[in-house]
Amino acid sequence: MAAQRVVEVPKAAKQTSRVRVAVRLRPYMVKQDDKGEGACVRGLDSQTLEIINWRNATETLQYQFDAFHDEQATQQEVFLSSVKPILPHILKGQNASVFAYGPTGAGKTHTMLGGPEQPGVIPRAVREVFNLVKAKEKEDNAWDYSISMSYLEIYNEKVLDLLCPSAQDLPIREDKDRNILIPGLTNTPLTSFSDFHTQFLPASLNRTTASTKLNQRSSRSHAVLLIKVVRTQRAVQQRVQTGKLYLVDLAGSEDNRRTGNKGIRLKESGAINLSLFTLSKVVDALSTGGGGSGRVPYRDSKLTRLLQDSLGGSAHSVMITNIAPEYTYYFDTYTALNFAAKSKQVINKPFVRETVTTPSVQVKRSREEQEAVGSGEP
Ligand code: ADP
Ligand code: MG
Repeated sequence: MAAQRVVEVPKAAKQTSRVRVAVRLRPYMVKQDDKGEGACVRGLDSQTLEIINWRNATETLQYQFDAFHDEQATQQEVFLSSVKPILPHILKGQNASVFAYGPTGAGKTHTMLGGPEQPGVIPRAVREVFNLVKAKEKEDNAWDYSISMSYLEIYNEKVLDLLCPSAQDLPIREDKDRNILIPGLTNTPLTSFSDFHTQFLPASLNRTTASTKLNQRSSRSHAVLLIKVVRTQRAVQQRVQTGKLYLVDLAGSEDNRRTGNKGIRLKESGAINLSLFTLSKVVDALSTGGGGSGRVPYRDSKLTRLLQDSLGGSAHSVMITNIAPEYTYYFDTYTALNFAAKSKQVINKPFVRETVTTPSVQVKRSREEQEAVGSGEP
C-alpha cells in the first residue's frame, strides 16, 4: 500500500466541551530496547512531535497536540501546564477530569502518582486544591468548604471501592439533576494534605500489590481517584455547590492481541477493554462536536458513565497521553498518537536518530548497522 500523504483535516474548532490533549514522552530506556535501535519518536516543539513512518523509513509523521511534554519535562512542568489551570473551577461547583492514557510502561502511573522524590499529578493537584480553599476562605468568609475523597477501580466492568476492598461491584446512578453518583462508595473527609497522604497512599499501594498477584491487573484496570469539594453558603438560605475532580490512571491502551504468537488482529477492539474503547469514542465524539450523530456514548461503559458529568459538557477535561520512545512500543505509540492528535502530516525527510546519547547503546547500534540489519517495519 502506498504511504499516506494525507494532511488530515484538523478536528472541529475549539469548543468548551473539547478535551484538551497533552502528550508526554518518557525518557529512552536502554532496558526497553533489546535490539539497541534507539528512539523512533522525538519532540520538535511544545506542541509537535515526529515519529518515523514504518511504511517508508525516509519519512516521518508529524503530530500536533494542545501541548507536548518532552522527555526532559519535569513533574512540576506537566502539572503547571496541563492540570493546575483547571483546578480553580472545582471550588465553584464545576467538574473536571484528568486522565493518563497510553500503553503499559509509557509512564501513566509516573505521571499521575509519581514517587516520593518526584510526586506526580495526584499529590500536586490535591495539595493545590487545599491551597486554593485556604486562600478562598481567607479572602471571603461567605462560604464554608469541605474536601473529601473516594478511590475506586474499574476492572472487567465492575466498580470496586479501593477504600473498602471487601465491597462488591457498586452500581452507578444518576440523580434528578443529572449528577452521577455511586451510592455506597466510601467518601472520606480530608482535613489537610497530610491527611490525604496518610489515607490515600496505603490504598494505592494495596492496588499495586494486588495487581502483581493478579496477573497484570493494574494494566487492565482503571484507577479512579475522586476529590470532591463541597461549599456551603453561610447565608440563611444555604446554597450548596459540589465540584468534582476525577484523577484517572487508565488501563494500558496496548493492543494485547497483537502480541499473540501470530500477530493476529481482531476486528473489534471494544471487547478487550470496553471502558477504554468507549472512552476513546466519547473523547472523539466530544472533539468532533458530537461525532456527527450528536450522540456521545457515555452509557456504553462503566468508566464513561461514571464520568458523564465530568467529561465534556461544562466540565474541564485533560487527557495526558503517555508514550515511550523505543521501537518496541512503535505500534502502540502510533495508535495512541492517532487517537490523541489534532492533526497529522507526512514529512519527507529521513529521521536522524540524534536523540540517543547513551554511549553503550550507540555502540550496540552501530554494530547492528554493520550487520545491515533492519527493515522499515518494526
Ligand atoms: P505505566 O503506568 O504507563 O505502565 P509507569 O509509570 O509504571 O508506566 O512507567 C514505566 C517505568 O518508566 C517506571 O519505571 C517509571 O518510573 C519510568 N518512567 C515513566 N515516565 C518517566 C519519566 N517521565 N521520567 C523518568 N522515568 C519515567
Ligand atoms: Mg501504571
